[in-house]
Amino acid sequence: MVNDSNAESYLSPFSCSFCRGCFEHFLDGTYDFLNGFIASDGCLQPQRVYDNWKNYLKREDDFCYQFNTPRVYDEAALGMYRQELADLKHAVERWANYVTNDKLIEAIKVYNETRRLLRELYALRKGDAPLVTGEECLRITLASMSMRKDTFNELLSAFLEEARQREPITDYRARLMLIGSSCDSPEYLKIFEDKGGLFVTDVNCYGSRYLYDDVEIDEKDPLAGIARSYLARPVCGRMCNLHHELRDTILEMAKEYNVEGVVYTKMKNCDMWGGESFFLDDAIRDAGLSLLILEREEITANAGQVGIRAEAFVEMIETGGAD
Ligand code: SF4
Repeated sequence: MVNDSNAESYLSPFSCSFCRGCFEHFLDGTYDFLNGFIASDGCLQPQRVYDNWKNYLKREDDFCYQFNTPRVYDEAALGMYRQELADLKHAVERWANYVTNDKLIEAIKVYNETRRLLRELYALRKGDAPLVTGEECLRITLASMSMRKDTFNELLSAFLEEARQREPITDYRARLMLIGSSCDSPEYLKIFEDKGGLFVTDVNCYGSRYLYDDVEIDEKDPLAGIARSYLARPVCGRMCNLHHELRDTILEMAKEYNVEGVVYTKMKNCDMWGGESFFLDDAIRDAGLSLLILEREEITANAGQVGIRAEAFVEMIETGGAD
């Protein structure tokens, strides 16, 4: 979480505060340890971060690359995406080292092991007496995206062993699910958990998207396997022809984790999740789930207000009221 006041000089006020926060990290030196930046156009906003970084901050030897991500899933998009990945691979090879198919397959296996371990972590949240909170789980998935995967896998294996010996959490009042725009703020989840809610699952860029099916290992063409695996996932509203699959994923996960209430957060100016309401809101309510929709900024300056909404939502679920 970061103050984005300097980034506001570079980015439009209609940009999302998550992207402004990322750019602020480039400005304040937090990302100085990086040797480059790869952006994709999953949504429009990271491209503005990339443009500004490239024009104003890029050092001579930094790796600098932007690639296209299709917004539909079909044969043509798959071919295009595989080519985009091949072009990225060649660019990396020109800048650093040759990337062999064997190395790619080795890396996919390590990443798939991370996914397997994270699925085990999520399994600890399924029963009536979960062993980890939503806040804790988000801290762990954030770590998985920030460190070497082989190191992370060792640490998570040890954590899982320890967590299985814990006293279960039984004093919660409502089982919650987080969906919506990028949320990398465990503190935001804590606001709800301090009021008696317990996040037992999510469909969040920084959470369960890592749990979707393993990346397929295509021995002859690993890039094609990566393209198929990443593009077929209904991870967010970016995919124009997978809206119904995203809705079904949310409802299936809600059932699997015995969710009672869905907290749908929309980052201000997030076109990806702003419009998704059209496909989701009625379906969530029709499934018998309570729904709380909240606009959010990267910095939770209104924690008190969110706390009041959280408390009312938890109480409504507990007493069986309608949303
Ligand atoms: S999907 Fe939404 S929250 Fe994520 S970067 Fe794009 S606009 Fe921001």
